[in-house]
Amino acid sequence: MKLEILELGNRKAKFIISETTPAFANAIRRSMLADVPKMAIDYVDIYDNTSVMFDEMLAHRMGLIPIRTNLEMYRLREECDCKGEGCALCQVTYTLSAEGPCMVHSRDMKSSDPETVPADDNIPIIELKDGQKLVLTAVARLGRGKEHAKFQPVCPPGYKYVPVVEINDKCDSCKQCVEQCPRGVFAVDKGKVVVDNPLNCSMCELCLEACDLGAIKLSTDNSAFIFTVETDGSFSAQEIITRAADSVRAKAAGLNEVLESF
Ligand SMILES: [Zn+2]
Repeated sequence: MKLEILELGNRKAKFIISETTPAFANAIRRSMLADVPKMAIDYVDIYDNTSVMFDEMLAHRMGLIPIRTNLEMYRLREECDCKGEGCALCQVTYTLSAEGPCMVHSRDMKSSDPETVPADDNIPIIELKDGQKLVLTAVARLGRGKEHAKFQPVCPPGYKYVPVVEINDKCDSCKQCVEQCPRGVFAVDKGKVVVDNPLNCSMCELCLEACDLGAIKLSTDNSAFIFTVETDGSFSAQEIITRAADSVRAKAAGLNEVLESF
């Protein structure tokens, strides 16, 4: 299997894995979505809420705020020595106290751990009008995406087969395909039409319709996949990909162990 990184930012990555199968590509995708644990607010104690919003709705909103997660520091509650009761190794507490008129943002949540804070500090939680009050404490813990969507560290990651675009000898360089293609796949080089950017192809086939001579052939490489991954800020893009791969490896090792025991 080969890996080629096309783009690697803090929260977004684009890469190609080739010489592999759709099953493996999908395993990586599902692992990113459902298997990598992430911090999210799971319990909210509301002491005072005279805002226009119900307590439950407010708690739901807070649960969806992405929180920066350091998996070296925290463990899943069910795997913690406290046996699920909640301790400093498996949960973080936030306090929030605000009085209107103001907009309450994620940055107003005061954390018990200065590193485990909301990934963005400008996420609006609720607008308080004159005299309205909000006082609460919230508890965040690690969880997995398969348990609840708030624990998904990525905006759904996607992949597609690597497109293969070919131009054969019948081409008379009429440039119709260059004009028709909305994604800039073709270009003109020294008067000849060439395939410039095949990875941009979305298989819309407008170029096939534009070409009267049938000089263009579109296909896919079924053993190579272009992945696009975007995190919600709880992890860096690089960490989420490596953790997903680790999770697939651990599962395969577990299966191997079971098989060998027979
Ligand atoms: Zn604990």
